[in-house]
Amino acid sequence: MVNDKKREIGVLYVAATPIGNLEDITLRCLRILKEVDLIAAEDTRHTRKLLTHYAIQTPLISYYREKEVERSKQLVKRLLEGESIALVSDAGTPGISDPGAVLVREAREAHISIVPLPGPSAISTALSVAGMTESSFLFLGFLPAKKSQRRSLLTELSSQPSRLIFYESPRRIQALLTDILNIMGDRQAFWGRELTKSYEDLQAGTISFLLERTKTSPTKGEFVLIVSPGTQEKAEGENLSELLCWYRDNTSMSLKDVSRKLSSDLALSRSQVYQEALTIYKKVDP
Ligand code: SAM
Repeated sequence: MVNDKKREIGVLYVAATPIGNLEDITLRCLRILKEVDLIAAEDTRHTRKLLTHYAIQTPLISYYREKEVERSKQLVKRLLEGESIALVSDAGTPGISDPGAVLVREAREAHISIVPLPGPSAISTALSVAGMTESSFLFLGFLPAKKSQRRSLLTELSSQPSRLIFYESPRRIQALLTDILNIMGDRQAFWGRELTKSYEDLQAGTISFLLERTKTSPTKGEFVLIVSPGTQEKAEGENLSELLCWYRDNTSMSLKDVSRKLSSDLALSRSQVYQEALTIYKKVDP
């Protein structure tokens, strides 16, 4: 029994819950959610819907990003006093772009047993139906909302030989796809939108195809975006001017993005590369 009151120290269960369809929950997870003394949830109102659906009456306590440190201390104290606790997030697996890591770390430091209850996650769900054959992938979660930071990161990632996986909200999907197109080129990609829900939408194609779809179909629902590695076409040029000419003639990257990339590749100052780029890019104008 989980909530055996004779136990001296409680157990922390880290439980994966559905990412949409309430049936996507394991039997083990349901049993543990019933048996523990307390469920720590990112949003108690959200989790209550799941618990009501399964007639589970375990008390809830909130555990969200802003309160992670303070709440972890309280929860560890209760675990040390013998209570067993299940940690859940709003969707999928805690700790994956969701709170959870602080409590797990603190519990481990206090020598509390930590038990994972595996189940859904948007990343594995999308990967399973992407049909891409590359074996490795790099999970980035949400990119920074600030445009300049996002573009710098994408520039750094453009030579990665692995698939890139992003989480994105409907508000920012167009901006993300536009940046990827400009910085990485028109790569093969896949999105899983509203996974496991009634309007589930799986699309595979080029980035420009996906971008077009955001314009023709309403961009509702959360996204997982998977981007294939580039073809690694190597820029040709012996010096900065030649490289700038190559990027100008062979890619659709903007002058700003090319400057950013070359200043990072060649360890030159951004303003120096930008000034030279202005001259080179002007040369093609009639
Ligand atoms: N912990 C979760 C997991 O294991 O996948 C992720 C939580 S994160 C705060 C929320 C993001 O995950 C969403 O913005 C979206 O990118 C992705 N996501 C979650 N549920 C999804 C779904 N049903 N369909 C597509 N993406 C989803």
